Amino acid sequence: MLSMAGIYFHIPFCKTRCSYCDFFSSVSETDISKIIKAEIKELELKKEYLNNEIINTIYFGGGTPSFISEKDISVLLNAVYKNYKVCDNPEITIEVNPDDINIQKAKTYFSFGINRVSMGTQSFNDDILKFLDRRHDSKQAINSIEILKKSGFNNISIDLIYGIPNLTNKVWEKTIEAALTLNIQHISAYHLSFEKGTKIHNQLKTKEIFALHDDESVNQYNILCKKLKNNSFEHYEISNFSLPEFNSKHNSNYWQGKKYAGIGPSAHSFDGNSRQWNVSNIEKYLTGIYLEAGYYEKENLSLNQKYNELLLTRLRTNKGITDKEIFDNFGEIFLTHFLTEIKLLTNCNKIKITNNNNYGISEEDWFISDGIIAQLCKI
Ligand code: SF4
Repeated sequence: MLSMAGIYFHIPFCKTRCSYCDFFSSVSETDISKIIKAEIKELELKKEYLNNEIINTIYFGGGTPSFISEKDISVLLNAVYKNYKVCDNPEITIEVNPDDINIQKAKTYFSFGINRVSMGTQSFNDDILKFLDRRHDSKQAINSIEILKKSGFNNISIDLIYGIPNLTNKVWEKTIEAALTLNIQHISAYHLSFEKGTKIHNQLKTKEIFALHDDESVNQYNILCKKLKNNSFEHYEISNFSLPEFNSKHNSNYWQGKKYAGIGPSAHSFDGNSRQWNVSNIEKYLTGIYLEAGYYEKENLSLNQKYNELLLTRLRTNKGITDKEIFDNFGEIFLTHFLTEIKLLTNCNKIKITNNNNYGISEEDWFISDGIIAQLCKI
């Protein structure tokens, strides 16, 4: 079987900053055209990086890709086709914000061959949306999804956030129910985290707001799992749910350890043996790309790191991992370590074993999976 790889574009621009967000992005529009040119050059510089593997997924993330013009998106897409071998029917995803979507934009995206949209919806409750400093309200989110459907999209994902201060179970249930009435195919749901430097982190420090108690967070996670399962969604990764056949191929590639090239400031890349990450600074990125040097840092992965990463990604998915995969990739010593630790974890019901010696963490424990996986890791 041919190996496939992905391309990720980081579009580092947002109209305004949301209260919880620590992703790298700028609210200044002055550098957009410079960044697009630099990203095209980076695509050319990375031509050999994926070792001629065929591209089966392309992903525009950010920041807010829908903030820049459709023309800029098409220029980037054309540069991929010009420099890489792309499979016949690639999954092409674009992240959008509800306030950017109109019928003309949606139709133009569709005409480019973009076939998957991921919308930063976060909630269908207007008070929560205000607290998050989102630029849209629930009505706008619903309208935008209808526009996307009318424009031809039949693979739509939305992001939701739970574990928010003052988010009651009732409001959370209503948000999930609102999502389910929209006939979308995919939901990514994340627990709010208070990242340093964000507005909500400062509010937490000054006791203006209070984090939810752990039990309440677990409750909201359980509500999410139950409601989506009852509506035919498959829970295929800790934060991701989809109708059958609508898993995100791009993200699944990450979790399966496939190669990908990340383009743009702060984007990460992986070639099977090393990881590299671009500078999170627009000026330094532009200068580095111009000089063809100094725009990224790189780390070669040791066998221990590769083993740990594989466990960290796979045990948060419903695929789990087999002892054969451990042996084939890492050999006898790693397998012995794995099986010794697995035995301790199965004794306390933290790991389930299915047929073919496949090991996995139960869905209800994914929420606390960090501690379980740490026990299996090799230092
Ligand atoms: S959450 Fe999205 S839209 Fe909001 S600031 Fe972060 S990247 Fe921009």
